[in-house]
Amino acid sequence: MTKLMDGKLVSSQIRAEISQETEEFIKEMGITPHLLVIIVGNDPASMTYVKNKKKACEAVGFKSTVIELPVETTENHLIELIQQLNEDNSVHGILVQLPLPKHINEEKIIEMISVKKDVDGFHPYQVGCLVSGMDCLKPCTPSGVIELLKYYDIELKGRHAVIIGRSHIVGKPLIQLLLDENATVTICHSQTKDLSQLTKSADILIVAIGKPNFIKADMVKDQAVVVDVGINRLETGRLVGDVAFDEVSTKASYMTPVPGGVGPMTITMLLRNTLKAAKDLQSSSLSI
Ligand code: NAD
Repeated sequence: MTKLMDGKLVSSQIRAEISQETEEFIKEMGITPHLLVIIVGNDPASMTYVKNKKKACEAVGFKSTVIELPVETTENHLIELIQQLNEDNSVHGILVQLPLPKHINEEKIIEMISVKKDVDGFHPYQVGCLVSGMDCLKPCTPSGVIELLKYYDIELKGRHAVIIGRSHIVGKPLIQLLLDENATVTICHSQTKDLSQLTKSADILIVAIGKPNFIKADMVKDQAVVVDVGINRLETGRLVGDVAFDEVSTKASYMTPVPGGVGPMTITMLLRNTLKAAKDLQSSSLSI
């Protein structure tokens, strides 16, 4: 029978540790970790994500600020705001909620965020550090996937991990994190030929494509570990992943549910990054 990898449960344990560490940090340093989130426009899904991040921050004892900007905000205005926040010692993490309106260049905005405060781990410098094995703020969703696999003692060393989806925020950084765990990694995307043949060779299958119930049981090896990163809202309002849960769960040894799998882990890793950023900024200010 498939064992569920419960992202809520694992998250609550990690968040309890973060909360404890935060209390100690505040007591010792008199500094409260502070995450600042900027949202441009009023996309309902983005607003929900931002609200959840704020709630999660407050629950572990962080300060959390949300700056809401109108959809017509100019790129220059956003850049100026980020430059001010980069200099603001009371802010430890800066996150610009994506996607941004079309007239704003996302890559340019990400590059403006101080690498020390880039808690999403999207800045090209962080990406370079990740690939070079240097200390960095790792992107949240991929690190959440690895934490979940580790919690359930899933062996990664020498095993074949197949990722579907090559986005900058999920698929690509996951390659590196899985390599760091000594897995053998294959990455597939929309132009991959014979996708099923590759997915069927996976000991660990990680799916991040954004297509509801795309992966069916006949695409999965018996007893594979299946991680579903996808979040899709059906017309009925129900949330489903990229994996057809009911049928794939008859074959998989371990599987993540949607919701309640990778989603909570992503926010948990954001909390971890914010605490790390606050600690790193504090120790670099002491060493000046
Ligand atoms: P994206 O749209 O940036 O990329 C999708 C990827 O899927 C592309 O690389 C594309 O080549 C690949 N793809 C599309 N159709 C395919 C097909 N038929 N066969 C093989 N590959 C195909 O997506 P993203 O931002 O990485 O997000 C993917 C999904 O993960 C979405 O549902 C998103 O909502 C979800 N997501 C969840 C979390 C979380 O915290 N759980 C975080 C980020 C993204």
